[in-house]
Amino acid sequence: MAAEAETQKPQETPPKVQQVTENLILTLSDGTKVKRRAPRQRACNEPGEKGKICAGHLKRWYFYGDEVKQKLGPEAEIYRCEHCHTLYVPDEQEPPRTLIQHW
Ligand SMILES: [Zn+2]
Repeated sequence: MAAEAETQKPQETPPKVQQVTENLILTLSDGTKVKRRAPRQRACNEPGEKGKICAGHLKRWYFYGDEVKQKLGPEAEIYRCEHCHTLYVPDEQEPPRTLIQHW
């Protein structure tokens, strides 16, 4: 007999759409949003077209201007969504998982 009571679906983490703007830290003068990443977040969760989230990849970004440096520090660790260009700073509780060379 098959034990069908044990129906385990693969773990699907529901997208927390309501939380979208909660991590907003600041908005730059040019309208760029700066948000705090959730732990291990690797994709942008900004709302995009038709209510879907952007889901662009967050990439380490080094080319921020003086405004970002003033507000987040000259050596700030910044990630940028390659799709909508929202900026992200890492979660403070998240230790660096990879060694990133400074250059
Ligand atoms: Zn995005």
